[in-house]
Amino acid sequence: MMWPGEYFKRSEFACKCGCGFDTVDAELLAILVNLRRHYGQPITIHSGCRCQKHNKAVGGVINSQHLIGRAADVTVKKCGPKNRIRILMHHIQRQIRI
Ligand SMILES: [Zn+2]
Repeated sequence: MMWPGEYFKRSEFACKCGCGFDTVDAELLAILVNLRRHYGQPITIHSGCRCQKHNKAVGGVINSQHLIGRAADVTVKKCGPKNRIRILMHHIQRQIRI
């Protein structure tokens, strides 16, 4: 399948522990692409996919959406590092918490 991320590299979503888990939910990716277009600013992904081990290491909740590639912690450059946005797929109705 073609990678539809356009502004993002698949590797940006990869689990930080190096296990290689980088399966991102297509809908999450579409939201990020829209967000990128909306702001016209680079978006940094701080945490995308997480395996069980890494999720535990960073204190993630047991049923974290990061485990299934359906959550991403990001910052938009323009908004500064303090405004970290967490996008959770089960809050998909535009409930983006800032
Ligand atoms: Zn991992």
